[in-house]
Amino acid sequence: LNAFFQPVQQLVQLYTNYQQARAALGKLRGLLRTTPAVVEKPGAGALPPAEGAIELRSVTFGYDPARPVLHDVTLRIAPGETVACVGPTGAGKSTLAKLVARLYDPDSGSVLIDGHDLRDVTLDSLHRQVGVVPQEPFLFAGTLRDNITFARPDAPASLIESAVDAVGLRDLVDRSPGGLDTVLHERGQSVSSGERQLIALARVFVAEPRVVVLDEATSSLDLRSELRVEAAIQRLLDGRTAILVAHRLSTARRADRVIVVDDGGVAEQGGHDDLVAAGGAYAAMYATWESHASAGQA
Ligand code: ATP
Repeated sequence: LNAFFQPVQQLVQLYTNYQQARAALGKLRGLLRTTPAVVEKPGAGALPPAEGAIELRSVTFGYDPARPVLHDVTLRIAPGETVACVGPTGAGKSTLAKLVARLYDPDSGSVLIDGHDLRDVTLDSLHRQVGVVPQEPFLFAGTLRDNITFARPDAPASLIESAVDAVGLRDLVDRSPGGLDTVLHERGQSVSSGERQLIALARVFVAEPRVVVLDEATSSLDLRSELRVEAAIQRLLDGRTAILVAHRLSTARRADRVIVVDDGGVAEQGGHDDLVAAGGAYAAMYATWESHASAGQA
């Protein structure tokens, strides 16, 4: 009998090693994908626990510095405020959000959190205070728990549980054979795209950052998933400063302030109702969006 079991045991061990290696590789790939194109200044200090005030001072930036995407943008976001960026495709909304997360440095001007220039603080402390939800969140081969605690592997169990409830992942956890210990496959083929977004939101929830930078997914979800993701976003943003790239005007409508990014700068800004009443670019975008929505296309 032993002659049968030994090879089976070896196979199981091999498989476990393989899974662990895959999980490690997945983490590494994830890290590489999020490694910013910026360097930490020698002697940089830690960003203290943030109040969450964001400021852009005369920021000019281009992926090719000869062709700026943003020109001389100045913007202040108060602690706890949610600002939604809207505007035409390619206007620079995601770029603005990426600068706040210091995925890039401005060519001129500066980005500050609570008065600290992002270039003067350690990347580690910045990542702890600023949580990023990318447009296409990555999942790596590993358990659901690993995926949720990615930014904070030592997260207490109670916080993981509250994140699962807050973002509406309880159904998925209950349905998965190993609960939070269920292994997900890389690129998340085993979860729907709505669930993948919820996992990304849970990841930021667990990290408890003071500032959230969220690039809303453009891929459309079914209505039920859409509503779940929207509710999860609302809960995540509660009490935090947030800059959202809003691809859906329903998201913009709920923000404290809307910023219309166009032609490399802030073309209009204000509360949703005020901008609609002002009858400018946002009002026109909103009217178009509403007519599509009522025709069932948004
Ligand atoms: P969308 O609504 O389509 O997401 P956006 O307003 O978020 O658009 P950005 O993604 O900020 O626009 O892009 C602004 C400009 O910068 C575009 O012309 C885009 O092609 C360019 N761009 C974006 N990312 C990069 C990159 N990594 N390298 C080079 N150019 C880029």
